[in-house]
Amino acid sequence: MTGLDRAGIGMTSARTRERLVARLRDKGIADPRVLDVIRNTPRHLFIDEALAHQAYDDTALPIGHGQTISQPWVVARMTELLIEKGIPQKVLEVGTGSGYQTAVLAVLCPQIWSVERIRPLQDLARKRLQALGMAAVQLRHADGGLGWASEAPFDGILAACGRPDVPADLLAQLADGGRLVMPVGEADSQYLTVIDREGNDYRQRKLEQVRFVPFQRGIR
Ligand code: SAH
Repeated sequence: MTGLDRAGIGMTSARTRERLVARLRDKGIADPRVLDVIRNTPRHLFIDEALAHQAYDDTALPIGHGQTISQPWVVARMTELLIEKGIPQKVLEVGTGSGYQTAVLAVLCPQIWSVERIRPLQDLARKRLQALGMAAVQLRHADGGLGWASEAPFDGILAACGRPDVPADLLAQLADGGRLVMPVGEADSQYLTVIDREGNDYRQRKLEQVRFVPFQRGIR
């Protein structure tokens, strides 16, 4: 390892990020808007410095409190699905975590509301998003299973935690014509799931198998 790598320059360089983008493309991410945002979002700023050398690997990493920053492929895939039908104007994110997915969404979508149930994670995410000039993102310490009723309806809803059923409040807060993306299933058999709302009709599609941290109840 060179001195520059230790200083965090080589390991977060343009070439390192380009390698991640190439890998995501190989794994099927095709939307150039998503690949551009992944290329330009400094993922190393959303994790502990001690892990920064792994920031552009395609893996989830621990962020404390038993939670993880999502794998870049998962962030890219969920984002691609969320904007597939058109850019949603108002987006609700459940599970801010490190704030990395929030930052990716904030580049693409005009209005983001993001909830996190673990206060220290939310505090850190807020600092990072402010440092990146993304202060317009609305963050709330709350149970995302209840959605964010005062701001509903949302054109897009993205949850970064999984459970066997989609919370009824999230379905109710999805706008007519809107789309929800969330991992659904038991811990060992979760699938990325897309729900499109047309009036009172909710059309559900089950996509790739994934593994997310659990969607929990209440706040901490
Ligand atoms: N996209 C985030 C993912 C973090 S992991 C990132 O890349 O950093 C998922 C997050 O969902 C965790 O921080 C966890 O605390 C949070 N979470 C789980 N259940 C929740 C709930 N009911 N309401 C809000 N946040 C929740």
